[in-house]
Amino acid sequence: MAKPKRNEALESIALSVVIPCYNEVDGIGELYRRVTAACEKQVNQSYEIVLVVDGATDGTRQAIFDLASHDAHIVAVDLARNYGHQIALSAGLDICRGERILILDADLQDPPELLGEMMAKMDDGYDVVYGQRMKREGESLFKLASAAMFYRLLRKMVDVDIAPDTGDFRLMNRRTLDHLNAMPERYRFIRGMVSWIGLRQVALPYERQRRFAGTTHYPLRKMLMLAVDAMTSFSIVPLRFASHLGMIFGLLGLFALGYTFYSWVDGNVLPGWTSLAAIVLILGSVQLLVLGIFGEYLGRMYMETKRRPLYLVNEVVSSDSIAFYRNSPVHRLQERVKEAVNA
Ligand code: UDP
Ligand code: MG
Repeated sequence: MAKPKRNEALESIALSVVIPCYNEVDGIGELYRRVTAACEKQVNQSYEIVLVVDGATDGTRQAIFDLASHDAHIVAVDLARNYGHQIALSAGLDICRGERILILDADLQDPPELLGEMMAKMDDGYDVVYGQRMKREGESLFKLASAAMFYRLLRKMVDVDIAPDTGDFRLMNRRTLDHLNAMPERYRFIRGMVSWIGLRQVALPYERQRRFAGTTHYPLRKMLMLAVDAMTSFSIVPLRFASHLGMIFGLLGLFALGYTFYSWVDGNVLPGWTSLAAIVLILGSVQLLVLGIFGEYLGRMYMETKRRPLYLVNEVVSSDSIAFYRNSPVHRLQERVKEAVNA
């Protein structure tokens, strides 16, 4: 398939703001207002706001389409279904065209007004300016504690320097984004992938606000899934867990054997049944656990080998760049697969 012709005049956009939106209908108006104000202040008219509708089930899609039909700066990307936060974000990052790219959540927990400070830092020569949360308002104690634990554990396990207390809220330049977009994996932990890229990165401390409207889409189950994605895609330390456990239990076994022998010499009859059952149970559960960890990696390898596209786009609505986006390929990965097949 020939590449769709791009309108040269549209190519040089100073700033893209990419925002994945799930069910955020109550916050969209305020989001639009604040992001637009922040963009105009920094880059005048040379910006686009890419709103990715991630299979929303409330009025989010319509609200975003309405914005796109009224304001030429809005690019509405409607995905074919709900793919989850990280994939929706990837879709927006694939399609955006700006020289600098700001990643934002739709719920205004990360203030778009920080754009000014981020731009200033980038002017100093940084490739990535990431927000680092100093304080988080309106989050449960459990979320704070689990997030803190997770980031510390992750840092212990992973060679890449993933800064603690960061989200995806960050400003990147085009060369960083091109590297990111070229990473084809389907289990995406984007903040980690950006850290992996390296180049010059700097933190911008800020206070995370409470949600403007609605409730979190990251219940415990999804938080755990993201954590497992992060661990498995950046580290194979868990795979070594098995040998460590093996050593520990081997040593325990030796001790137990020594003790048994000692008791036998001493003339004591061992009431062995309970302890035996306990040991069998412990070893059984450890084996299953280790098998589960292996399965986690194996399953991921299987899913990756299918090489399905990360997402499918239902439609792109933008009054400014329709010509460019209408025939836009669904995903660069698909293009690459096609190229590989045709080569
Ligand atoms: N989101 C999404 N798809 C999902 C879940 C969430 O696009 O399946 C978006 C959501 O609209 C928001 C961002 O991802 O813009 C972060 O989600 P949320 O605020 O619920 O997460 P939290 O801040 O509580 O971690
Ligand atoms: Mg949020």
